[in-house]
Amino acid sequence: MLLKLFIGATWIYIYVDMPTSPTVKDPGLDIVNRLISDYYRNCAGIAPDRIVEREFGVGNFDVKISKRHMSFGNERILKEYLSNNAVPYVSSSSAYYRFPEKRPMERKGWIGSELVFDLDVTDMNLQCQSKHGRQWICPTCLDKVRDETIKLIYDFLIPDFGFSEEEMQVNFSGNRGYHVHVKDKDVIMLDAAARKQITDYIAGIGIDFGDIFPTAGMRGEKLVGPRPEDKGWRGKIARSFIKSLNEGINALIGLGIDRPTAARLWKNRALVQMGIANGNWDMVYIKSKASFWRNILDRQAVSQSDRIDSNVTNDPTHLLRLANSIHGGSGLIAKKLHSAKDLHDFDPMKDAIAFRKGFVRISAKTDNPLHMNGQRFGPYGGEIKVPTYVGTYLYLKGMAKITNFI
Ligand SMILES: [Zn+2]
Repeated sequence: MLLKLFIGATWIYIYVDMPTSPTVKDPGLDIVNRLISDYYRNCAGIAPDRIVEREFGVGNFDVKISKRHMSFGNERILKEYLSNNAVPYVSSSSAYYRFPEKRPMERKGWIGSELVFDLDVTDMNLQCQSKHGRQWICPTCLDKVRDETIKLIYDFLIPDFGFSEEEMQVNFSGNRGYHVHVKDKDVIMLDAAARKQITDYIAGIGIDFGDIFPTAGMRGEKLVGPRPEDKGWRGKIARSFIKSLNEGINALIGLGIDRPTAARLWKNRALVQMGIANGNWDMVYIKSKASFWRNILDRQAVSQSDRIDSNVTNDPTHLLRLANSIHGGSGLIAKKLHSAKDLHDFDPMKDAIAFRKGFVRISAKTDNPLHMNGQRFGPYGGEIKVPTYVGTYLYLKGMAKITNFI
């Protein structure tokens, strides 16, 4: 604003920055802080195994990790810190260190790291995302990322690497994905280069087309290819193609096949499947078959890599959301599952709800219905009373204001 001052014998004009209105207090923030604080005061099972060897990082509502190089001696101290400070984001290292609080990283005394996988729905390019946008997460999004996590564990980690369910810890990320920790003693010491080999394998990077289809491009030769029971990527390719074949023409088109060829494959599916069972991929005439199958192979591999953030897996010093902590972007729990098997029945919008008590009054503007705890809420365009977990979810997504706790 412009101030007019009479100084000495003259008027002078100066500009000063002044707030246009007093700072408005946000009752929603107070309510969420209190809920987070109460959660940590009463929660159990928040301490990771080998807690004294882990580095911790905490954040605020703006930055997920604003402070790191922290360590906690036991669960009581950790809980006290999280509760007293109502911490909206807390992460811990997948690495174990002798001195987790020391800095820089080289002074920590690295002992080893779990092998971790971070699966997130954001980059999956789902059809539903083009309708509701990437910021919103619908039940289909959550089902798809759960299916990918199941695929990672049961199609790769167990059969191809020989890990067992007992050596794995699976948790919901608290918002839009899952984290898989492998604690097998053989992986703990792997360096970044070895971890990259694992993510490359899972992403299908470096698959040699000539190994999979050895006679491709040879004039007059039958196209010999993988069988469903083959190990590694060979078997995966055969099984995945048969699955699409049996799902129908649209699934085949989804692999990048043109409609007439997809229709021909579908019509002759029994014959095609019988051929593949015997390693014969030439049961139906396909024009330019070598490039045809190469495209399908590439598409399978790329779609796999989209789902996993390989930076997280490859970096043995990465901090990842602490299991059973609150996610400050949703108010949900980054819930630790009892076992990988539980993924099949896990519903994060029900099983990971933190703030179950009471109701809040909100003023909301939402475009999509929210499905939580087996019920449908909204879309909303105004003031309404909702369960606390619905109000906090929409508030933390920036889609509602909380006016009061009821
Ligand atoms: Zn969706």
